[in-house]
Amino acid sequence: MTAHDNRVQPAASKGEFRKCEQLWFEDGNIIIVAENLGFRVYCGLLASISSVFMDLFSLSQPEGHELVEGCPVVRVTDSEADMKPFLTVIYNGSSIWKFNSTLPHYWAYTRSILLMSHKYQCEALLEEGKRKLSELVPSDIRVRDRVRPRIESDDFISVANVARFLDMRAVHRRALYECCQLDTIILTTGWVDEDGFRDRLCAEDVQACLAGRVRLSQERIKVLLNRFKETPPTRCAHSKTNPLSKYSFLDPAIFARPDTRCITVRKELLSMSVELATQGISYDPLALDPIYQSLPYGFCEPCTKSFTQTNRKLRQDILDNLVELFELPRIRPPTPEVEPAEDLEVGEDSEGAGEDAGMDEGEGEVDGEGEEDAEEFEED
Ligand SMILES: [Zn+2]
Repeated sequence: MTAHDNRVQPAASKGEFRKCEQLWFEDGNIIIVAENLGFRVYCGLLASISSVFMDLFSLSQPEGHELVEGCPVVRVTDSEADMKPFLTVIYNGSSIWKFNSTLPHYWAYTRSILLMSHKYQCEALLEEGKRKLSELVPSDIRVRDRVRPRIESDDFISVANVARFLDMRAVHRRALYECCQLDTIILTTGWVDEDGFRDRLCAEDVQACLAGRVRLSQERIKVLLNRFKETPPTRCAHSKTNPLSKYSFLDPAIFARPDTRCITVRKELLSMSVELATQGISYDPLALDPIYQSLPYGFCEPCTKSFTQTNRKLRQDILDNLVELFELPRIRPPTPEVEPAEDLEVGEDSEGAGEDAGMDEGEGEVDGEGEEDAEEFEED
């Protein structure tokens, strides 16, 4: 992460700072200052969840060290925008870290906590953050269909970068899928957030997206052409003999013939899908198009169910196959022989929330986020 200084070190400069009202405990025993914002908190709690804090506090007690209101002051190089959500969640619990209207910049908040908990080695918080990161780009197409986007589409560049940094490969490629939907100029040059910081994909990811887009557009055509290609193997409620056949004595040509409604609808939808496939390029084969949405209005129930399943399977296969579509390397990350305690820039943590745990897809990915996603999203 070029945007994030991942080394923990005290900042040298001394100077005035503002008190963070929400995180200024009168009986706190340490003051952490990030940029110009001070947090008076409890040293023991931070040291108990983070060995990095423990080391930092032990380093910060030389004689003549800065004291404010009798508390030692530790100045860090992190931004106040990163430190505040991090400490807020540590001291107030993760119940406030939810996607809702009181947390308008959900991704910025989540990103800060993820990077800070990684940097300060707060394992439990990092795992919680990874779970929330997985929820932003679900692995199960049914969950994806059901949930509304929680973040701005431009933020997926940042999601991809953070997932790459944390070595969450499955999340990374699903975020790249979302990046493929961005305007080419944003995809290739990045996007500037409200603080003026430009978040951009690395060259390798831009290349993966540009090549991936071509394949995604081909996959979309395949989905459109294949989903109504065959009559469902299930029993069609309309294919039986017309129930009005008892009136065949009136007009056998009308009343005795089988009901072919589903066959007719299938042909119509197939021809509409062919038209849609030739109308323009789209890189979004996972999208639910209007033709698909009209399914329940034309077919009988068994046919609707069957075509829904076919459509879902075609799209789930794409979601499961992004490693091929993006031509991402299938290299298993090296297992470090020594714990990377000294070098905090090494992100070899195991993946959270049933992520692929450093294993590449096609080799038995355990991507069990779906069920958890479903529960989490239904709460909202
Ligand atoms: Zn039918």
